[in-house]
Amino acid sequence: MAKEQKKEMSEKEVKEKCLCTSCPSYVDCKERGFCRSSSSKSKCIKKEQGCLCPACPVEQAMGYTRVFYCTRGNDIEQSNKK
Ligand code: SF4
Ligand code: SF4
Repeated sequence: MAKEQKKEMSEKEVKEKCLCTSCPSYVDCKERGFCRSSSSKSKCIKKEQGCLCPACPVEQAMGYTRVFYCTRGNDIEQSNKK
């Protein structure tokens, strides 16, 4: 099977590595991995109080460069704004 570069990590892998649950902005409603293209914004995180995404291994592996995916939308949604 050919391997594509920067292929999205599986949802399971993202959820395992995601740092959101340790983030000061995080409100627990059983969500995380907001950066993935199939994810949507959080239903319960409304206040931006710091973001751990720049330190996350998922963000580095995927080549993402944004922050606050939980309140601003996943990587694709944020790149479509402007
Ligand atoms: S980059 Fe942010 S949203 Fe994505 S998995 Fe890491 S901590 Fe979670
Ligand atoms: S996306 Fe960023 S701000 Fe939102 S909970 Fe995850 S680490 Fe925190």
